[in-house]
Amino acid sequence: MEQESRPTHVVVLGSTGSIGRSALGVIRHDGGLRLRAWGLSGHTRAAELVAQAREHLPRYVAATDPESAGQIRKELAGTGVEVLSGLDGIVRMVQDPETDRVLSAIVGAVGLSGTWAALEAGKIVALANKETLVVGGPLIMELARERGTTVLPVDSEHSAIFQAMKAGGRSEVRRVVLTSSGGPFRGRSARELEKVTPEDALKHPTWQMGPKITIDSATLMNKALEVIEARWLFGLEPDQVDVVIHPESIVHSFVEFVDGSVIAQLSPPDMRLPIQYALNYPDRRPGPSPKMEWSRAFALHFEPPDRETFPGLELGFEVMRRGGTAGAALNAANEAAVARFLAGQIGFLDITRACRAALDSHHFDPSPTLDTLWRVDAQARREIDRWQS
Ligand code: MG
Repeated sequence: MEQESRPTHVVVLGSTGSIGRSALGVIRHDGGLRLRAWGLSGHTRAAELVAQAREHLPRYVAATDPESAGQIRKELAGTGVEVLSGLDGIVRMVQDPETDRVLSAIVGAVGLSGTWAALEAGKIVALANKETLVVGGPLIMELARERGTTVLPVDSEHSAIFQAMKAGGRSEVRRVVLTSSGGPFRGRSARELEKVTPEDALKHPTWQMGPKITIDSATLMNKALEVIEARWLFGLEPDQVDVVIHPESIVHSFVEFVDGSVIAQLSPPDMRLPIQYALNYPDRRPGPSPKMEWSRAFALHFEPPDRETFPGLELGFEVMRRGGTAGAALNAANEAAVARFLAGQIGFLDITRACRAALDSHHFDPSPTLDTLWRVDAQARREIDRWQS
């Protein structure tokens, strides 16, 4: 149970990443009134973790890299901040009796362990790590139910859907529609995409994000992963999830109810808003995010996605329908393929081709355990490492 008399104690997993830094911006703006950074975790960015710890004076800092942990421990000596190391450190921090909420913002499937540990301890999880639900959605949601706790979405689209859902009953939802900016290559042909470089793909038109998710936005794999995430998070049937391209990234997604009413959430693109909503939920608080400017004319555009040029999106719908181990295979293949693309080893269109191959060759299990999911994950990564275009 969260305490009414003191600020909510927040553990930020992945505090040196893009979402983690935005979360600390929200906590800084709150000024200790409602929110307090209780734990911070990073991997190797020791200097940044030390700077964050000096500013926020959390109870714990955890570095998953043991060498970084040693360095941080020396630098924070005498501050009263306890420095932990490795996955054990993360588990200890999220399961601390005084931890209230865990913001899970470590990128990739590695983020699953911390989320799992937090839910096991009955903590409210603000989930920014979409890979967790893509890999093990049914298991994660079942664990949350079992422990009587909640998974609150931080992904902007899912936060929008979560907010819009409040306009009606669950049985009154006809479908949810996720918006996508279309990424930097909207309107291009597949032929034009053949020669795209990592530098081209890292220029996102509307969102400032880390490299992995920016490449995912360029292939539309990010939307594919979000389609899968939406199904498990909201307990939807596969035909209740759809995608529309909306280049301005102002309408963050919407819910269509059975009577035809569509309820959307709008705001300028800034991740601090969905983060803040998840940290303060069910309350709404004044925050640092920019507000809509209604005093000048502007237009919002919507168009169907180009599924032929961006086949990654189709993979998402297919994997959402199949469930089981398909999400773990697709996610791991994509993580490994994005890393190879960024390293200049494979082309842009190869990312989706390699994912297709890994998905087709994996041994499908319709109701896997967590161990099976990790095995499928490792196997898909090996497959991509060997993959040749
Ligand atoms: Mg998103």
